Amino acid sequence: MAMSRSPQDARASALLDWYARHRRVLPWRALPGRRADPYHVWLSEIMLQQTTVATVKSYFDHFVARWPRVQDLAAAPLDDVLHAWQGLGYYARARNLHKCARAVATDHGGRFPEIEAELLALPGVGPYTAAAIAAIAFDQPASPVDGNIERVVARLRHIAEPLPAGKKAIQAAARNLTPRARAGDFAQAMMDLGAMVCTPRAPKCGLCPWHDACAARAAGDAEDLPARAARTPKPTRHGVAFWIEDATGRVLLRRRPERGLLGGMMEIPSTDWRDDPWGLDEASGHAPLPAAAWAEVGEVRHTFTHFHLRLTVVRGTADSGSVVDGTWVHPDAFGGQALPTLMKKVVRRALVP
Ligand code: SF4
Repeated sequence: MAMSRSPQDARASALLDWYARHRRVLPWRALPGRRADPYHVWLSEIMLQQTTVATVKSYFDHFVARWPRVQDLAAAPLDDVLHAWQGLGYYARARNLHKCARAVATDHGGRFPEIEAELLALPGVGPYTAAAIAAIAFDQPASPVDGNIERVVARLRHIAEPLPAGKKAIQAAARNLTPRARAGDFAQAMMDLGAMVCTPRAPKCGLCPWHDACAARAAGDAEDLPARAARTPKPTRHGVAFWIEDATGRVLLRRRPERGLLGGMMEIPSTDWRDDPWGLDEASGHAPLPAAAWAEVGEVRHTFTHFHLRLTVVRGTADSGSVVDGTWVHPDAFGGQALPTLMKKVVRRALVP
């Protein structure tokens, strides 16, 4: 007698059938029926955090061409990795990427662990990334929940509790939906469904393999889900950046501390970034070198995850012989320095006031 399929199996196979026809071709993805390279999955997932697929493609290709195996990335100097990461933001992620490559190369013999809990112990690998690698690279029954999957699940199950509190219920529902077989394809299918069909605005429910099962579609409020709690506005911080030239036109750069925002990156030295604006007299006491006079060049604005920053750029000259902390570099050679986007804005402002 033929066994009838459970609703969970039926739902999973409807989505997997859709995926077989509509899956996106992505450089880090294995061809149908093939096992993905764990190094590629890990690298792409770290790059994709907070960045779009379109942006990541060229970075991914560049990294894999330059460092074809995780051991190659582990052996690269950190500065090279930070430099190649420029434009992807969140440099703490690049530092952890390098640390993680080293951990895999030295502690795991160059092979990523297959178990979610062991992946979670690697530097820079959080619950989402561990689940994504376990599912996509090793077909473990793990349930990664990224923004796309969050949206699909919240709508399918009509989970109305606003984010971030609603994440727990969404995660539990995603685990419930995940089939024991082909968990990696299932996760990627949900990602693709969210990216192409179950879009934030105007979801194409008529093309969706879960049209009949979807609670939000039936209720007619899919676009309202997932709901988000009202955000508190970001504070604005203030600082002064010191563009200091020596007699030959070289500029003082300094490396930021390893820990903290933009850690390990190069910077045009600046004061602390604080809630109150700085007066120039007060700020000059925090310059890395005294200058005969400081001239205000202009302002740079930048937004980080948790605050807006306004940096006043001032220019001065100093004697390069007296430097203790920093390095003198001609602006023509800035291309070889790991300068984050904020500092590139400062450079542009100083060179083209
Ligand atoms: Fe999203 Fe519509 Fe599919 Fe529901 S039916 S999962 S809202 S695309």
